[in-house]
Amino acid sequence: MKIYNTLSKKEEEFKPLKNNHVGFYTCGPTVYFYAHIGNMRNYIINDLLERVLIKNNYTVKHVMNLTDVGHNIGDGDLGEDKIRDEAKKEHKTAEQIIEFYSNAFFEDAKKLNIIKPDVISRASENIKQIIEFIEKLNEKGYLYKTETGVYFDTAKFKEYGKLSGSTFKSLNEQQIGGARVQRPEGIKNITDFAVWRFAKPDEKEMVWDTTFGRGFPGWHIECSTIAYKFLGEQLDIHCGGQDHIQVHHTNEIAQSESLFEKQFVKYWVHIEFLTVDGKKMSKSLKNIYTINDLEKKGFTPLSFRFMVISVHYRKMMNFTFEGLKHYYDALNSIYAFISKISVPNEKIGGIDKEFAKTIKEYKKLFFELVSDDLNIPNAIIKMHEMINYSKKDLNKEETAVVLTTLLEFDEILGLDFKKHLSSKLSKEALELIKERELSRKGKDFEKSDKLRDKLLKEYKIKIEDTKEGSVWYSV
Ligand code: AMP
Ligand code: ZN
Repeated sequence: MKIYNTLSKKEEEFKPLKNNHVGFYTCGPTVYFYAHIGNMRNYIINDLLERVLIKNNYTVKHVMNLTDVGHNIGDGDLGEDKIRDEAKKEHKTAEQIIEFYSNAFFEDAKKLNIIKPDVISRASENIKQIIEFIEKLNEKGYLYKTETGVYFDTAKFKEYGKLSGSTFKSLNEQQIGGARVQRPEGIKNITDFAVWRFAKPDEKEMVWDTTFGRGFPGWHIECSTIAYKFLGEQLDIHCGGQDHIQVHHTNEIAQSESLFEKQFVKYWVHIEFLTVDGKKMSKSLKNIYTINDLEKKGFTPLSFRFMVISVHYRKMMNFTFEGLKHYYDALNSIYAFISKISVPNEKIGGIDKEFAKTIKEYKKLFFELVSDDLNIPNAIIKMHEMINYSKKDLNKEETAVVLTTLLEFDEILGLDFKKHLSSKLSKEALELIKERELSRKGKDFEKSDKLRDKLLKEYKIKIEDTKEGSVWYSV
C-alpha cells in the first residue's frame, strides 16, 4: 500500500520497520470540551487508515493519548491550561471535566464506528515516565530552566523544523520578523518550548512535585513519552491534524530524536482541515458543530462519516448541512438497496460468468484504490458503479456475490451495511415492511403510516422512504 509522508512530501510505498507489525500513534483530543466535527474528521481518517492496514494483513498496535493537562489556550507556553480554564468556568474540578468530556468523545467515536485504539493513555497517568524522559533529556544537555519552567533548547537539535520543511534559523527569523508571537520571559530561542511548567500558587489541581520544581508537563512531552512507553523508540505511523506539523509534531521529533538518536517516525500522516465558510472549524472561532448538533437536526452520525470518507483526507473539506443532506440521502439509498436485495430470493440459476467477472474487477479496483494513499473517494465511486450495475434481475447466487462484496467494502468504510440486511429483521417485521411498501405503491398512505407507527412502537424499527425504496433503522 502507499501513503503520503509529510516528512518526504511524497507518496511512498508503505513498509513497516519490523516485519508485519505497525506501531501507530495518534494525538488524541484535549478533553476540555466536546470534540467538534472537525476533530472527528481527523479521527475518522485515522480509523480508515487503521482499517486499510488491517485489510493489507498488518498487525496494528494503535496508541492514542488523551491530553488532560498541559495544553494551553493558544497552543503555546503562555495562556491558561485549557482544562483548568474550563473547570473554573463550569465550577467543576479538573477531574470532573476530564471524565465528562472523555466519555462524550468516546460516545461520539462509537457512533461514528471508529475502532477504539488498543491503548488509550492519559497524560496524567504517565507523570513518572514523563519525568524520567525529562531527566534523561536534561542529562544530555538539551534543557534549561527559567522562572516559568524547564525549556527545550531547540538550537541544540540540528534538524529542528524538518517536518515542515523549515530550519531552526528560518523558523526563528520568521517569528522575530513577524513579531506577533508573544513568548515567555527568559527563553533563549523563539522556538524553545516547555517540557515542564512551574505551577502558579493558585494552581493546585493536576500539579506534581519533582526535583526541578512543582508543576505539570508541557503539551508535547506527553506524546513523546506515551509513544515511547507503548511503542518503543521508533514508530511506523504518526497521525494528526495538519495544524500540528509546525509546532506540536516538530517538538515531538526534537524531544524523541534528541533522546534516542534515531528517526522517531517513519511515516507522518496529516489530515487537512474541516472548514465552515472557508474557515477552519475551531472552538476559538465559535463556528463548531458537534455530532449531537447533527443528530438534533435529524442526521445520523454515519451520514457524517460517509461525507468525511467521500473527500480525500489531504483536501480541505467545507462543511454545510446541504452537503450533509446529500450524503445522508446517498447512504440511505445504499441501505435501501442492501435491504431490498437481501430479501430472500427464490430465483436460482447460477452466476453469470460475465457478471462474476465484472464484480470481481470492481472488488479489485476498490481495494487497489483504498490502498493508494487512502483514495476512498474514488473507491466509493466504484462501489456506486457496482451497485448500479447490479440493479437488475439477479438470482439468489448473484445476489449473494453482490452482498458479500458490499460487506467486504464495509470493513473499510465502516457504515454498518450489515445492520441493513433483511435477515436482521424478524419475519413479522419484514412482512410488515413489505406490506407497507405495497400500500405505498397503491397510494394507501393512511395504512402505510399506520404500519410505520406499528413498526416503531412494537418492533423499534424506524422507517424512511427513499427513491430506492424504504430504509429501516433499529432504534
Ligand atoms: P485538539 O483536541 O485541539 O488537540 O485536536 C484534536 C485533533 O483534531 C488534532 O489532531 C487536530 O489537529 C484536529 N483538528 C482540530 N481542528 C480541526 C479541523 N477543523 N479539521 C480537522 N482536524 C482538526
Ligand atoms: Zn501529540
